Amino acid sequence: MKLLFFTAAIVLSLLFANTTSAKQIAFTFDDAPRQATGYFDGPTRAKTLIKALKDHGIKQAAFFATTRHLNEEGKARLRAYANAGHIIANHTHTHPDINKTSLEDYLQEITTAHNQIKDYPNFKAWFRFPYLREGDTQQKRDGVRAHLAKNGYRNAYITLNNYDWYIENLFQDALKNGKEVDFDKLKEFYINVIIQGAQYYD
Ligand SMILES: [Zn+2]
Repeated sequence: MKLLFFTAAIVLSLLFANTTSAKQIAFTFDDAPRQATGYFDGPTRAKTLIKALKDHGIKQAAFFATTRHLNEEGKARLRAYANAGHIIANHTHTHPDINKTSLEDYLQEITTAHNQIKDYPNFKAWFRFPYLREGDTQQKRDGVRAHLAKNGYRNAYITLNNYDWYIENLFQDALKNGKEVDFDKLKEFYINVIIQGAQYYD
């Protein structure tokens, strides 16, 4: 986990293996490729993340892509994740809030993103709702569900939210404001939050 705390939008899913106490956890990263700014530039972030996953024995994570800012450098990052064995999946084109978007526009968002990522190695027809919102009306909720089913998609919902995106915002703000960051303490805090989150949702 050493380097994972520099990445945002990690959402974890917990699965439980029948009667034994063995537990499994899935690592998924939303909003990939993220803005190429902040503590790491884009390529360094991808390289660091891929290495950290590998070093810690995580053979396959899933990256949920938004495609609006998918330039050549961003495509190279998605390819790097895919070539390292990780899954590439759909998180819409512009990351809209379904509660503020018409059903028609929302379905178009899913299709636009799909067309830009479907040819990556390890592409999976999995959809993660931005903000984890699935619709403020029954018409939208059922409309998206029908669209996903028709196109062979599954809803890649989460079972554990660790609020790493919030820690990430505080971290990036601190850097921007010229504050000194104690990385050892940040690491300890981050890991504690992740572990406590996992235990809570368990
Ligand atoms: Zn997102």
